[in-house]
Amino acid sequence: MVRVRFAPSPTGYLHVGGLRTAFYNWLLARREGGTFLLRIEDTDRTRLVEGAVEALLEALNWAGITPDEGAVVGGPLGPYVQSERLEIYREMASRLVESGHAYHCFCTPERLAEMREQQMARGESAMYDRHCRNLDPAERDRRLAAGEPHVIRMKIPDGRSLTVEDQIRGPVSFDSSLVDEQVLMKSDGFPTYHLAAVVDDHLMEITHVVRGEEWLSSTPKHLLLYEYFGWKPPVFAHVPLILNASGKKLSKRDGDVSVEAYREKGYLPEGLLNFLALLGWSPGDEREFFTPQELSGVFSLDRVRKSGAVFDFDKLLHINGLHMRAQSTSRLVELVLPFFDRAGWPRPESGYLAQVIEVMGERANLLTDYVEPIPYFYADPAEYEPATVKKRWKAASPELMEAWVARLEALEVFGHDALDEALRTLAESRGVGAGQLIHPTRLALTGVGNGPGLFEMMEVLGREVCLRRLRTALDRLPRP
Ligand code: GLU
Repeated sequence: MVRVRFAPSPTGYLHVGGLRTAFYNWLLARREGGTFLLRIEDTDRTRLVEGAVEALLEALNWAGITPDEGAVVGGPLGPYVQSERLEIYREMASRLVESGHAYHCFCTPERLAEMREQQMARGESAMYDRHCRNLDPAERDRRLAAGEPHVIRMKIPDGRSLTVEDQIRGPVSFDSSLVDEQVLMKSDGFPTYHLAAVVDDHLMEITHVVRGEEWLSSTPKHLLLYEYFGWKPPVFAHVPLILNASGKKLSKRDGDVSVEAYREKGYLPEGLLNFLALLGWSPGDEREFFTPQELSGVFSLDRVRKSGAVFDFDKLLHINGLHMRAQSTSRLVELVLPFFDRAGWPRPESGYLAQVIEVMGERANLLTDYVEPIPYFYADPAEYEPATVKKRWKAASPELMEAWVARLEALEVFGHDALDEALRTLAESRGVGAGQLIHPTRLALTGVGNGPGLFEMMEVLGREVCLRRLRTALDRLPRP
């Protein structure tokens, strides 16, 4: 039975890389009929951010990556929030001390800082010098009884080669002499990530640890902890970093990195997930459109690349566009409506919005493309783009537009085809090109120079609105 987990630390928003990790785990669980578990790793009290857990859950929920077990949903192996499991870590750390695999360390922050400085000065890498490793037990007990601040560190054996059999990268070996004697329990009574993660992955019966590449170098410590406890380690898989165009780790400077930002920009969860899945994983052919369900049928760790994956913003937009076109109009209506609240605009009627969506067709790649860029579908233009006025509103325009208004008043059916024909007939009778009517009409109706097809748009706006806007433009735009 496959049991995987996503184990975020609530230190801010959900990063797109975090969502990708969560998604890969979720896909494995779905493919194998296994369990996807959510664990909150909040033991670093200095990095906690208020509201971060809620933001994280909200983002996962939006993406549809919902846990089968874990924080919030619960389950038989909880609690799933590490700050509620302190007793367990304390007891496990004591076990390691008793078995001789860990020890109390009373070194003060000042001593450690000085030690580090000296190591750096000698050109060595900063590592604990094992000062407290062989304290006399009587002295240790006396200092503990006196309540002296201390941590618990794990012992690292010398001269061993520790090999991670990584599912993505193959075997990766580490020289134990270069591994630091890691703190397991901090002086504040909280465990470090390393102890808590290993203990929880074991107790929560995790079979596969799929996480970001930044944790690969910690894995030898984790393997030793499994060995010390006498537990069988899970399968490890470290997914490649997400890079910017210049090959460096993607950061805020490169663009949006929070899932929330993409949601607000009008991306569909399916679009973002599809893009993220392809960032590091390939189906082995040219296909690029996948729903989450389709991915759960084909995703496998052995097709995850070893090297970093470049975050291509244009590709994300393109893939999102594919997903927009795969949605029913009624679903799009539902998803778009909340964006009007955010823009501070009144919500249009659903039937009307559905028509706008149809008319926009392939012009929309984002949900927000149905809102901010096309205000003229929802309100009369407040102004006319000066450059477009200059280019499109000619000396002959007012007179032509007046004739066009008269024609529109009399038109029997205010539909796309009838409008098209009426405009062309009028242009012909006046001996002008259709553009002489089309461009000023668009300007009058929208205030701008481009947008969806004019006749489709007019049909959606309706006769009353079109006539009103044309008359207003005749009032406000220059006359020869
Ligand atoms: N809490 C760690 C993080 O936020 C999880 C690392 C792991 O999955 O083991 O990245």
